[in-house]
This record gives sequence, structure tokens and C-alpha cells, in this order.
Amino acid sequence: MRASYDVAIAGAGIVGAACAAECATAGLKVVVVEPGPIGGGATAAGMGHIVVMDDSPAQVALTHYSRTLWQELAPELPGDVEYVAAGTIWVAADEEEMAEVRRKQAVYAGIGVRTEILDAQALAAAEPNLRTGLAGGLLVPDDAVIYPPCGARFLMERARSRGAELLTDAVAELSQEGIRLRDGSFVPAGTTVNATGAWAPELTAGIEVRQRKGHLAITDRYPGFVHHQLVELGYLKSAHSTAADSVAFNAQPRRTGQILIGSSRQFGAEHAAVDAPILGRMLSRAVEYMPRIAELSALRVWTGFRAATPDKLPLIGPCPGQPRIYLATGHEGLGITTSLATGKLVAGQILGHPCAIPIEPYLPGRRQEEARHE
Ligand SMILES: Cc1cc2nc3c(=O)[nH]c(=O)nc-3n(C[C@H](O)[C@H](O)[C@H](O)COP(=O)(O)OP(=O)(O)OC[C@H]3O[C@@H](n4cnc5c(N)ncnc54)[C@H](O)[C@@H]3O)c2cc1C
Repeated sequence: MRASYDVAIAGAGIVGAACAAECATAGLKVVVVEPGPIGGGATAAGMGHIVVMDDSPAQVALTHYSRTLWQELAPELPGDVEYVAAGTIWVAADEEEMAEVRRKQAVYAGIGVRTEILDAQALAAAEPNLRTGLAGGLLVPDDAVIYPPCGARFLMERARSRGAELLTDAVAELSQEGIRLRDGSFVPAGTTVNATGAWAPELTAGIEVRQRKGHLAITDRYPGFVHHQLVELGYLKSAHSTAADSVAFNAQPRRTGQILIGSSRQFGAEHAAVDAPILGRMLSRAVEYMPRIAELSALRVWTGFRAATPDKLPLIGPCPGQPRIYLATGHEGLGITTSLATGKLVAGQILGHPCAIPIEPYLPGRRQEEARHE
């Protein structure tokens, strides 16, 4: 029998690390169990775009809250986290997408998020390497980018400096009494947290989390080629689709001068190998928007798995009927952004403290609750 903890967390991706940092800061005795490198799962594969997204009122509330937490943390982040307030430009190809720009601006204005509508000329001036003939865009200047694995390491270090312990092992079983490790030992804990991202269903049977594969490519150094995180507004159609494979133009300037190019979304693709046809579609889409990308040299291509839920919102809080087993997973393509808010919501619920935003939309039991009221 090992020492007893208030909170035992399975997984040290950026979400588990954020939960650990927040719980340890609140004075709880925390242990984190991770078999691999800190932030070595989806966190290492992610793009690191810290973005306010308005797919649903609950999504906008969580992303906005979490982006604010990143802004507050920014002065304390070490250089290797590469926090840059690059801003996002949502690129509108035509007048139909300009209507979406105006709709989005109204939503953001309603919650106090700064934006600026760019016409075709202003867009070309902001990003000269975009193709001509685009209609305009929406600039969201306070969105940012980070380097996610170093973000996770920073949060884990913060947790450890506040007393959290890290065990290099895998969790075999989570229960209301604690966690059983693969080496057979048992770690007693008041609350256990499943923060294993796309692996979460292995520890909590029956949860509605599916793997959604994504590809990214990174180029050599071309400083000044891209200035903001650029996302085509068609991205919304691709991110919202829950069936077909999809690609969308997404380009990010790294502090090194490299350009990170995304992205793809695939269900049912369980192998981590690079899928040449979908990578080809993704890069062709990028070249459609930025023709000179075809002249750049790519250094590396990789894949990762997002943890997707049916209603596109994460699962944050206790499992129905098992109040001492928490979930912190299902963040799909927004887990870097929403990690800090997730940490706050987990610590707040464990301690019974009020949270800064309503927790109900993210509770794991929400779909059963909805079904009961139908
Ligand atoms: C291509 C791509 C681009 C993305 N771009 C962005 C973006 O721009 N912005 C954004 O906000 N999000 C983005 N995301 C999403 C983001 O990367 C994820 O939502 C986030 O990293 C999830 O973090 P996590 O800690 O939940 O999961 P992970 O980082 O996967 O961590 C889970 C951890 O659990 C560990 N684990 C697994 N099984 C066990 C076990 N049995 N016991 C103990 N530990 C275990 C794993 O080793 C792993 O370290 C992107 C994702 C992909 C794939």
C-alpha cells in the first residue's frame, strides 16, 4: 500500500498537467501517473493555437475563459513555451463567408472579445502571401500560439513545485478508492481523474469519446512568411462535420520562423501512420490559399489523435453514479486552449468551490440528463 493522496490523476498531457497544477495550488495532495514523456500524447501533436471558438455558447464560454487564463499566465511562462499573441485571421474566400465574418464579430462583441473586420485590401496588406481575390477576414488580435509540450512541462513543474508527485507508470484501473497501477500496486486517493485524452475509454468503459486523427506539417525557417494564425472559414464546415474525412487551410507562424501547416480530420483511422492521400489534400488546400507554400521545404509531417465527443464539448467532472471518479477528456481540437479552464473546473468541483463559468454543459452526465428530460 502506497501513501494516500487527495487527487490521483491518470495522464500528464496538457490537461492532466493543468489539473495537477490547479489542484496542487489549491493545497490538495496530488499524484500524477504517466507512462511516457510529459505532454507526449496529443499534446505533442497539437498546433498550439489558443483560440476563442464560437461553435456553441458553452464552447465560447470555455474557450474565452481559458484564453483569458493563458493571457494572465503569459508573463510567467518560460521562453520555451513560445507564447506569442500572434492573433487569428479567419479568412473569408467570398461574400457568403464575409456574412459569417459579420456573424462571428457580433458574437465576439457580445462577450467582449476584440475583433476587426478586414476587407480584401486590408487582408492582403496583413498577409501578402495569401492569394489574390479573397473577400476579407476577421482579425482576432488577442488569440495566441504556444508550443504545447513545453506548456505541459511547465504546468507539471508548477504542480511539482507545489507538492505534486509524478509516478512513471501506467494506470490499469481507476476506482472511487484510488488507482491500480500496471505494476499491481494500489495508490489510495480521495478523487481519481481520468485525463488520458483519446485513451480515456480504456480506463472508463462506455464513455462517448472517439479518436479523430489529424495531420500537421512543419516547414524550414521562413521568417515573415506568415504573421498571424490563418484559418479558412471553411474550417468551420470541416471541424463541425462528424462523418467524412475533411481538410482545411490552417497556417501558423512559429517563433522560430517555421510555418506549421494543418489540418485534417478523420474518424475511423486508428493507425498513426501518415496517410499520403489526406496529407496531399491538406497541402493542396494550403497551396490554394497561399500559392507560394508550394515553394517551401517541409521538414516533418506527423499525426495525432483528438479525443472527440458527440456534442463537441469536453467531459469535465464526476462520472454519473461515481462521484469520486472524474473525467477530464474529450477536448477534440481545443485541448491546448481549454486546458487551463479544465484545471480550474476540476479543482473547483473537487473542492466544492464556485466556478467562474457554469459547469453543467461539460458534466459527463449531461447526455443522460438531457435524455431524462426528453
Ligand atoms: C493535429 C492536431 C492539431 C491540434 N491543434 C490544436 C490547437 O491548435 N489548439 C488546441 O487548443 N488544441 C489542438 N489540438 C487538440 C489538443 O492537442 C488536445 O485536445 C490536447 O492535447 C489534449 O490533451 P490531453 O492532456 O487531454 O491528452 P494527451 O496529450 O493525449 O495526454 C494524455 C496522456 O495520457 C497518457 N496515458 C494514456 N494511457 C494512460 C494510462 N493508462 N495511465 C496513465 N497515463 C496514460 C498518455 O501517455 C498521454 O501522455 C490538436 C490536436 C491534433 C491532433
